[in-house]
Amino acid sequence: MKALVFEGYGGYDVLEWKDVPDPKAGPNDVVIEVKATAVNYNDIWGRRGAPQEVPLPHISGSDVSGVVTDIGSEVTTVKTGDEVLVHCGRPAGGNREGQEYNIWGYDWPALDGAHSEYVKVPAENVVPKPTNITHEEAASLPLVLVTAWRKLVSKAPVRPGDHVLIWGAAGGLGVMAIQIAKLFHAHPIAIASTDEKLELCKNLGADYLINRRTQDVRGEIRNIRGRAGVDIVFEHPGQATMGLSVQLAKWGGTVVTSGATSGYDGTIDLRHIFFRQVSLVGSTLGTIDELKDALDMVQAGHIKPVVHKVLPMQDAGEGQRLVEEDEAQGKIVLVP
Ligand code: NDP
Repeated sequence: MKALVFEGYGGYDVLEWKDVPDPKAGPNDVVIEVKATAVNYNDIWGRRGAPQEVPLPHISGSDVSGVVTDIGSEVTTVKTGDEVLVHCGRPAGGNREGQEYNIWGYDWPALDGAHSEYVKVPAENVVPKPTNITHEEAASLPLVLVTAWRKLVSKAPVRPGDHVLIWGAAGGLGVMAIQIAKLFHAHPIAIASTDEKLELCKNLGADYLINRRTQDVRGEIRNIRGRAGVDIVFEHPGQATMGLSVQLAKWGGTVVTSGATSGYDGTIDLRHIFFRQVSLVGSTLGTIDELKDALDMVQAGHIKPVVHKVLPMQDAGEGQRLVEEDEAQGKIVLVP
């Protein structure tokens, strides 16, 4: 079969669509024919070899939608022909509560990622594909959906009437966060860098729109909330926004963070944490049960995939560029 392999770290030109051995199911594994996969930021961190080096040669990819073609001798939960998605987290250190993960396609030892024609994964990581969406749509979901779900449902958690400020609201996490906030009868405040992206956010249910390039975010939040601040800030840009995020949370509000796209050294005025009793909460991925809960909402039509472009796997570099340069609206999907 063919897979998208890199043998050294670097730019898009290190990605090679080449022949590799077919995966074989171990006793507790399944083999899946990849119908579609997606681009995630960890593909980019992996290719760059920073901030963390991944093992080489490497096949990235943490999302897949496909059809089971083979199962191991011990597998009873899945059968060949099933249409499935994969939960990309392996609880690390035996921690089944999902506080510590290896991520499939990134730092899960000795398991190749989804950017290939076939993948092998443990059967316990497989979940049914929602029947009301295509493989391309389904492949855009698992990683960003479970992450946004945990942040807003398990960690923050969002309540009816809350005002939820969402950075990067037209990005992969953001388009899920808007819909989850809306599902819980909260008021999403979408922040993005272009009016075109904000139009998408409006169509997904955002109640308020802020263009971070042309508007003053602090002033706009003051217009929306007066002096109150927001109940929840959905953080992930990191260094560029964290200080402001903490300031924009209300007294007793929550900043829930899962990323640091713009850098790790965010500066926080700690008085906002203790005087105003703002909670700073960390979050990563989610358990397979959290993913299933979120996928139920997809099956019910309450959460919709947002696919910006479907590209052939050979154009994964272009897909990663669209994400790195903040041009993607929703997800970039790759097909073999
Ligand atoms: P996307 O690229 O799809 O979206 C990120 C958005 O962030 C962009 O659309 C951009 O929106 C916004 N953004 C980028 N730079 C800045 C900045 N300096 N200030 C404000 N906004 C900015 O990425 P994802 O949503 O998939 O992922 C976002 C981050 O979350 C990544 O760092 C990723 O690694 C991390 N992540 C972590 C997970 C975890 O489990 N811990 C899981 C998933 C993702 P615009 O320019 O329009 O404002």
